[in-house]
Amino acid sequence: MAVPKKRMTRARRDRRRAHWKRKLSLPGLVECPRCHEPRLSHRVCPNCGFYKNYRVVAKKD
Ligand SMILES: [Zn+2]
Repeated sequence: MAVPKKRMTRARRDRRRAHWKRKLSLPGLVECPRCHEPRLSHRVCPNCGFYKNYRVVAKKD
């Protein structure tokens, strides 16, 4: 079984733990330039169906 050779400093340990919370939030969320709704980057906007200023998915009115 792997055993750590050296004790990790408080600073290193705490820096590692400080990052973990960022993974909980949804990554890559950006505001749609057309309807200003939050959407995933590099994805078609679920609200207006636009991607890079052209319609990809027909909007349900
Ligand atoms: Zn949109």
